[in-house]
Amino acid sequence: MADLLSIAEAQHLVLERARPLPAENVPLESAARRVLAEPARAEIDLPPFPSSAMDGYAVRADETPGRLRIEARIAAGNPATAALEPGQAMGIATGGVVPDGADAVIPIEYVVEDGNEIEIGSAVERGENVRPRGGDIRAGEVVVEAGSVLTPARLGALAAAGIPQVRCARRPRAAVLPTGTELRRPGEPLAAGEIYEANGLILSAQLETAGAVVELMAAVGDDEAAHRGALEHALEADVVLTSGGVSVGPHDLVRRVEAKLGVEEVFWRVSVKPGKPIAFGVRERALVFGLPGNPVSALVGFVLFVEPAIRALQGVPDPLPRFDRGRLVAARRRNPERDELVRARLHRSEDGPLLEPLSGQESHMIARSAGADALVFVPRGDGELGDGASVDYLRLE
Ligand code: AMP
Ligand code: MG
Repeated sequence: MADLLSIAEAQHLVLERARPLPAENVPLESAARRVLAEPARAEIDLPPFPSSAMDGYAVRADETPGRLRIEARIAAGNPATAALEPGQAMGIATGGVVPDGADAVIPIEYVVEDGNEIEIGSAVERGENVRPRGGDIRAGEVVVEAGSVLTPARLGALAAAGIPQVRCARRPRAAVLPTGTELRRPGEPLAAGEIYEANGLILSAQLETAGAVVELMAAVGDDEAAHRGALEHALEADVVLTSGGVSVGPHDLVRRVEAKLGVEEVFWRVSVKPGKPIAFGVRERALVFGLPGNPVSALVGFVLFVEPAIRALQGVPDPLPRFDRGRLVAARRRNPERDELVRARLHRSEDGPLLEPLSGQESHMIARSAGADALVFVPRGDGELGDGASVDYLRLE
């Protein structure tokens, strides 16, 4: 089995073929979670004018401490009024335009109001409580870099900098095709030998979370004509995910039919448990993943190989899964031949994340997987990882 590809080798082969899709204009309101294709530059200086950080009085710092006449009151949203002359103060709201001539704002709670005058007891520094024009960013500077995922904070930054729309790689279109004569939809009665179809939903949900636009197709039976018809349609997408039918049995038709439809196989089988029989190929720009039928294998195969591709198609520069570091709370035997991803419960503790492997790690045990919130990476090798061993893990979200 030493000749099997490693996880990293297989990921490399996928990412070599997952180039960012063409960019399109996206209005900011629908850009959440999208990935910027080009740097976005500020349309304006931000703040666009010197603005007050406090409710208080705009003053000349060198006239404090002292007694000043209240000349005007400035609300947020009002255009700049006349300049502040010596001997004057102007009431100003947070976000109000600090008038020319003023160089500080003294908070309301530090003055004593007395008719149309204020008494300031102590000295104020120049610039105090004044947000200078362009202090956050200047017009033309980059607000968000290309390749960034548009988080709520970044969307806010773009909006504040006056940018109404951005350039983002098109979202990948993905088709999901479960295969297997035995598959029925939940809600339908099961005849002898039948089971409920789970992979379509697993993969669709994972795809959507990763940013793809998903078409979940009806499952096809293990019949060559049915495979061919469904795959011809699926291959119009940017990414095709099949589940099942990639092992060595006589009913495993996916790879054979795909080859006849012009899919060039890049690899088949990776040294990983679960999920070894995963297949990957391309037809023109389409990336074609054959995930194994066992639901946990499909789930893990997606995390390791498909999700990075979906992210790379959207222009994420570091699309591979990012592992965190934690400690095992039980010893775990290593697999001599295959790297393993072990489902585990994640506990937070004062000493950091603790990972408790679930009992029942077989690849068909999707119901038990419902109790898992992490996949722990157990590198292949001899012996075991002891209780307390430091491990890499991925959150299952
Ligand atoms: P296969 O890779 O087609 O040999 O399938 C391996 C195992 O996974 C078999 O026990 C199948 O019945 C099961 N399986 C295949 N596809 C699905 C699916 N979509 N949902 C649930 N189980 C599946
Ligand atoms: Mg099958």
